[in-house]
Amino acid sequence: MYVRLRSVKTVEMGDPTPPMGRSHHTAVEYDLCAMHARTGTDVRAAAELLRAGDVVAIPTETVYGLAADAFNAEAVLKIFTTKQRPSFDPLIVHIGRMDDVARLAKELPPGAQGLMEAFWPGPLTLVLPKRPEVPDIVTSGLDTVGVRMPAHPMALALLNQLEFPLAAPSANPFGYVSPTTAQHVADQLGDRIPYILDGGACNVGVESTIIGWETGGWKLYRPGGVPVEAIESILGRTVFAPLSFGEEQGVRAKAPGMLESHYAPRKPVHVGSIDALLPAHNGKRIGVISFSTPYPVYRCEVLSPAGDLDQAAQKLFAALRALDVSDCDIILAERFPDEGLGRAISDRLKRAAVKR
Ligand code: AMP
Ligand code: MG
Repeated sequence: MYVRLRSVKTVEMGDPTPPMGRSHHTAVEYDLCAMHARTGTDVRAAAELLRAGDVVAIPTETVYGLAADAFNAEAVLKIFTTKQRPSFDPLIVHIGRMDDVARLAKELPPGAQGLMEAFWPGPLTLVLPKRPEVPDIVTSGLDTVGVRMPAHPMALALLNQLEFPLAAPSANPFGYVSPTTAQHVADQLGDRIPYILDGGACNVGVESTIIGWETGGWKLYRPGGVPVEAIESILGRTVFAPLSFGEEQGVRAKAPGMLESHYAPRKPVHVGSIDALLPAHNGKRIGVISFSTPYPVYRCEVLSPAGDLDQAAQKLFAALRALDVSDCDIILAERFPDEGLGRAISDRLKRAAVKR
């Protein structure tokens, strides 16, 4: 059930003559909407809701996003409350035209232009020094802003109708597996948002790669849809992990991928060689996420029988969800090759496996 505030009025009541006199009351009117998000392909309807300061779930090539006007702090606040996302976790801002980067970023670090030309529209987020006009709520008070141009045609059509860029994290409750279909969004946020723009299943399937310029070089904050090797070949130099990445403790997380537990189903997840993990879980109903090998277990999700990492990434989150809602007791996931999209897959599985 969703309650929408329609109006607040002060009304005079009672007998106008003494000794009673008039009293003032506040009348509050609500619309009780048994809100269930409409799902459809109406880009114009989505644009109208966004102009009115509402949130809308939108398709991108990576995962579905929960979008709001990036320059409207109140609208952006709705993203945080809808997702129950902590305010320290900054949002990525999505643009539909190359020129829009200048509305968000004060300047472009060396190499940024070449990366934009090579990978936009596409799953690469650049963390750039921000202009003061970008509300603090978008960037969690950081002096940088994450920007990308999504490659999904419906997202681009929407962005190019709008007068403002869209702040959008993944359209799921904070910390859970990201959505890669409109149905995934409806299952989890359907009672909290007015509209889901349905652009079909996401064809990359894992979030964008995030890099930022720090102390004279580009650093990898999160592996994702653009392989690091491809970025390095455009830059002509190595992209390193920042100091705060990985095992370093006590340093503020800069990217969601840096939060230890993230992208996590409710069931316990273990990552490793399936044959080595199996004996420890005798007697349980076991669900397996495998790259290309079918395992004779209670339920096995083979991500790519042909051994293709791009296809595996595309299917990863749907497979995790399927095992999470199944009656398996536990999820065992294989290790993936440390190359191409395999790095993003391993990263998501590692964080899905962290005990909360
Ligand atoms: P999501 O869209 O839910 O995958 O999350 C977006 C992620 O992008 C955030 O959790 C951040 O970690 C990262 N991000 C966005 N803006 C910045 C920034 N200014 N600096 C570093 N990371 C950022
Ligand atoms: Mg997310």
